[in-house]
Amino acid sequence: MNQQHRGQPKTENTQEPESAPAQEDEDTPQIQKKQTSQTANQQRIHEQHNQQGPDAPLPAPPPAPAPADATDVGVKLAAQLLGTSTAIVVAAGAGMSLDSGLPDYRSPAEWTAAFPELAARQLRYEDMAKAAHFDDSPRVVWAWYKHRYDTYQAAQPHAGYAVLKRWCDGARDGYRVFTSNVDGFFQRAGFPRSSVVECHGSMARLQCTSGKHGIWKSDAAFRKLSVDPQDPCTLAAGVEVPRCRTFGCQRHARPNILLFKDTAWEGTAATAHRGRYGAWLDALPDDSTLAILEVGAGNLVPTVRLEVERVVASRLARQQRTHVIRINPGRDVQDPSVQWPGQHVVIRGKAFDILTSIDAAMAMETA
Ligand SMILES: [Zn+2]
Repeated sequence: MNQQHRGQPKTENTQEPESAPAQEDEDTPQIQKKQTSQTANQQRIHEQHNQQGPDAPLPAPPPAPAPADATDVGVKLAAQLLGTSTAIVVAAGAGMSLDSGLPDYRSPAEWTAAFPELAARQLRYEDMAKAAHFDDSPRVVWAWYKHRYDTYQAAQPHAGYAVLKRWCDGARDGYRVFTSNVDGFFQRAGFPRSSVVECHGSMARLQCTSGKHGIWKSDAAFRKLSVDPQDPCTLAAGVEVPRCRTFGCQRHARPNILLFKDTAWEGTAATAHRGRYGAWLDALPDDSTLAILEVGAGNLVPTVRLEVERVVASRLARQQRTHVIRINPGRDVQDPSVQWPGQHVVIRGKAFDILTSIDAAMAMETA
């Protein structure tokens, strides 16, 4: 564990960016050798589900709510709250990305559809996203990240990002984005990098597996990679595993993403960025009204939701006007009215549907 990591808040170390397996076996075998029987795997899933750990497979989602439109009472309230705000924090979790067509890797069905070869080997998302695999199985795990990188590149941020950007650009006191997503979609949708806190890192950058030696852009390394056409679970013959760029260091590189059981995540840049975001929040004028748009952030990996609750508590303690708009398809929706006496609204639904509905409601208000 490096110095920067040790100095981070507890939530950074104990939660996983992409998921957070709190109940991992200490001696997980190398993934190439893994031969878990179907029965044993089902038993493990059952046990994990009972533990309610963050790596437990997702329960079946509730029935999708009817799409909200601009006449929905919650949507109209959200439009009013946004219309009377002077600053915006967009707090986005995985639900924001999914509407762009990215697979939900925690869903067994979507995992199997996206990576049938891995599923056939009884390897799940939680098995792949472990930091140790960049040392013990680098060709397998790099092939998987190559798939993910290509998936992100092929997808386009959905129109809800542009809606958010327009609202943010109109905020008198400015805006910031706080996200656990590693896909870089906010930047691709036009948000300046300086405005986006990626609390779990990004696929856009690499780091040394040592956790030292800084971070650097990942595009060149990913472009050089290709997957074995005969076996999509490993890199093609002759393709080299990306290495650390520091002269004299012989270690492998890895994406700068917080992984399971990760003591070597290079979080220095993310921590510094988070500090600048905190300074921006603290410097908001006393007459500001902050709207926090929490989009697709659940309790499974609670970093984003915890950040929202921290900001709300901090502002309310200083009697600063704060509005909270929580958008979530329903898996983790909670009514925060007990702890948040300020203005808030909880809207069940998908990010794209609700954001565009709120936008329509705002247009009706100003018409
Ligand atoms: Zn290195």
